[in-house]
Amino acid sequence: MTSVYDQLLVREHLAKAQPEPELSPEQQQFWIEQIKKDLHARNAVLIAHYYTPAVIQTLAEQTGGFIGDSLEMARFGAQHPAQTLIVAGVRFMGETAKILSPEKQVLMPTLEATCSLDIGCDAEEFAAFCAEHPEREVVVYANTSAAVKAKADWVVTSSIALKVVSHLREQGKKIIWAPDQHLGQYIQRSTGADMILWNGACIVHEEFKAKGILDLKKIHPTAAVLVHPESPQSVVEVADVVGSTSQLLKAASTLPNEVFIVATDRGIFYKMQQQNPTKRFLEAPTAGQGATCRSCAHCPWMAMNSLERLAATLTSEAEEIQVPPQLIEQALIPLKRMLSFQAE
Ligand code: SF4
Repeated sequence: MTSVYDQLLVREHLAKAQPEPELSPEQQQFWIEQIKKDLHARNAVLIAHYYTPAVIQTLAEQTGGFIGDSLEMARFGAQHPAQTLIVAGVRFMGETAKILSPEKQVLMPTLEATCSLDIGCDAEEFAAFCAEHPEREVVVYANTSAAVKAKADWVVTSSIALKVVSHLREQGKKIIWAPDQHLGQYIQRSTGADMILWNGACIVHEEFKAKGILDLKKIHPTAAVLVHPESPQSVVEVADVVGSTSQLLKAASTLPNEVFIVATDRGIFYKMQQQNPTKRFLEAPTAGQGATCRSCAHCPWMAMNSLERLAATLTSEAEEIQVPPQLIEQALIPLKRMLSFQAE
């Protein structure tokens, strides 16, 4: 985090992310039927992130919706004919969907679902940071607010970050990177680019521990270790594969190993197991194995995407994403730059 103030802000947001009460199978079925009916009646489509609870991902599949990473979600929303997009994920994902589809209504199960990277990168502070280095190209991760994206030259996701930064390095550009320091360091080490890093972090990935992974490897010596680059360097160093959610999913399917130790949010296990029913996926150990841990391999904000909240947003429309038109216009420039770079 950038400061004690940011840490306090994260804690304040975490306090609102209370664990959802367990539903009985009958209650679950009731809400699932209700949501299916309402999605159909409103001509709305459900777009879910890989880290959301399994029941939400299943519902997205069953209703003709989509499961993906943040960029794939926004892309799907922009191309889908539905006028209402229900984005199950965290707030910056809803904002990105709105920026790419300003004419559509974007609803979320709760606007309180946020991200420690977004919280730790205040737009005004970031603008001041950039102003200190006007000669540098500003590259920001997708996990930022629309206001921060509006100040960037490029927006990137973890699946494309290495390619974009390598491209900029070849052009002799120096870079400001924000907000994830671990991902920034990984890109810096991999590309050799001249980068100044904002020091944000993901509260989930920051908890993975290299020693715990190595201990687990002793029990499962043939296991492949899959690591998301938001994890600390020591964890990245013990990985067999480092990559974005989509890249880790691909590795789980293509590698011949039967067992995998996975250092990313455990929500991804839903798709990994579905695509590889005979393989075994183990959570990488985290720092907090105790009952008080709020982010042991599962994002507390992603966990806020409950069936009840999803049903409520379909009727109340209270959790609608609004992005001022001027911000949309500004944030669209670096987002479109990424999209056309990817299409090349
Ligand atoms: S898992 Fe980490 S990066 Fe993803 S939304 Fe949660 S806090 Fe943000």
